[in-house]
Amino acid sequence: MSIAATETRPAAWRLLIGYVLPHRWALLTGALLSLVTGATGLLLPLVAKGLIDNLSHDRAITGALLAMSALVVANAALGGLGSYVLRRTAESVVLGARRALSSYLLRLRITAVDRSEPGDLMARITSDTTLLREVTTDSLVGLGTGGLTLVATVVMMGLVDPVLLGVTLAVIAGAGTVLGVIVPRINRASRRAQDAVGVMGASLERILGALRTVKASGAEHREERTLHEAAEESWRQSVRAAKWSAAAGNTAGLAMQIAFITVLAVGGARVATGAIEVGTLVAFLLYVFYLMSPIQQVVGAITQYQTGAAALARIQEALSLPSEPAARPAPLPTPGAEPAALAFDDVRFRYADDLPYVHHGVSFAVPARGMTAFVGPSGAGKTTVFSLIERFYDPESGTISLDGRPLADWELPRLRSAIGYVEQDAPVLSGSLRDNLLLGNPDADEDALTRVVRTTRLDGLVARLPQGLETLVGHRGTKLSGGERQRVAIARALLRRPRLLLLDEATSQLDAVNEAALRDTVADVSRTTTVLVVAHRLSTVTMADRIVVMDAGRVRAVGTHRELVAADPLYAELAATQFLATAG
Ligand code: ADP
Ligand code: MG
Repeated sequence: MSIAATETRPAAWRLLIGYVLPHRWALLTGALLSLVTGATGLLLPLVAKGLIDNLSHDRAITGALLAMSALVVANAALGGLGSYVLRRTAESVVLGARRALSSYLLRLRITAVDRSEPGDLMARITSDTTLLREVTTDSLVGLGTGGLTLVATVVMMGLVDPVLLGVTLAVIAGAGTVLGVIVPRINRASRRAQDAVGVMGASLERILGALRTVKASGAEHREERTLHEAAEESWRQSVRAAKWSAAAGNTAGLAMQIAFITVLAVGGARVATGAIEVGTLVAFLLYVFYLMSPIQQVVGAITQYQTGAAALARIQEALSLPSEPAARPAPLPTPGAEPAALAFDDVRFRYADDLPYVHHGVSFAVPARGMTAFVGPSGAGKTTVFSLIERFYDPESGTISLDGRPLADWELPRLRSAIGYVEQDAPVLSGSLRDNLLLGNPDADEDALTRVVRTTRLDGLVARLPQGLETLVGHRGTKLSGGERQRVAIARALLRRPRLLLLDEATSQLDAVNEAALRDTVADVSRTTTVLVVAHRLSTVTMADRIVVMDAGRVRAVGTHRELVAADPLYAELAATQFLATAG
């Protein structure tokens, strides 16, 4: 799914102005250098004329030759410098857009990410921003220099003969009408071409993320077709944009030819009636001729801008996705260092307005310290409890409070820094094992690291890996087993010294020996930290100080194992079947 155009957004060019404004002086310098380069080029014929006129004077020849050489060198140097400054500025504009987008996307609400394609968002940061380069150099500079020349020429034409100027402008206006039809088509086609690149990014991300499954399912051919279709759609639309751009260029060229003929006809008649001199007509025709190049330049800039505008619109859509609340100006109280107490009070929640409720009024309270286990059938809403505690989502009604304060009262990064969260299926990021462990606390000292590696029983793995903690793991390194990944995730969370530890089926893939060891570690931790676990092993559940039984988005019962076996038939059944079956 691509991002829906939900609200009216300001015009794309405003966004561009925002990116270009910081570089206005550099851009102006580059444009000026280009103008001066053009001017030095224009001087050359004059010097050449001087040379030819003075062929009999040796000194004059030497002088003229030196002047010409100087002009040629200056022309090359200024031209080179000008294009370097312009290109550099354009790259800086791209950099600015990429920085803004990257920062923004890291702060997106999870809801926004749930509803968009990561591959498409990636294309917006990488591919769409690239298109701003041409917009900056070609469009803005073209429009600036071409526009200036155009105005100057038109003024000169007006001075020579206002009537003929009127004739010329009428022809240009006619061409403008035609361009008014063509230009939006370029924009539309460019937009579709960029969208197709986004679709391609999304498909690639989907396929490469599950390449093993794709291969095992023998689905390469179908996936290949999807990719090719997206690539072809981008090609088709780009070709269409090229066609309309060419049409626009030709319309401008044709208009100038028509203007030339019309001026010749009208001007001829005016000469015949004695309204103007022949010289005036010749001068005017020369100006019509001069007008050609700036008009082409301006039309080129406008058509070029359409591609950029399409990219800008896509960037703007990404920037309008909901992001997490920014840090508030007034510092909020930071969660203290003590273990946290947590409470859900009548929490109702659904992932989106068009999806069914996942929590229908969930309430429970967890005191500071100790272990609370969440059990219940799959889909009961256990993982969602943790997502809400992390504020990946906010409840629709009801309150979640930490230390007696609603979560919204805590500064978001501070709130999260108090929590250690081991996700269900926590991923290993590509990088070294050390990077992975220190992700949540880069400043942890070596002692703490060694201790956590030992308590999570990763020491055996570290000893086995060729470069120990520095071994690359994840995408471009050694693949870890499911159990190893889980232990890395637990170690990562413990290194944060959390006040609230959330473990979501964090030991489900461990073997019996490792599981028993980790259980002891967690029991240890729960003496000084509030621990919430989603568990399915009886051994873990019976250890908990209290058990919250969830079913279909509701809390059915809270109690100890003994109490619940007697009081809650669902729990008794779970305990008898699911837990026992998987208990290590
Ligand atoms: P549990 O962890 O108890 O198995 P979850 O909290 O993961 O259950 O899910 C509860 C319900 O919410 C399920 O029906 C699931 O399909 C749905 N759900 C979970 N995550 C999302 C999501 N990101 N978007 C939409 N629905 C979701
Ligand atoms: Mg779950």
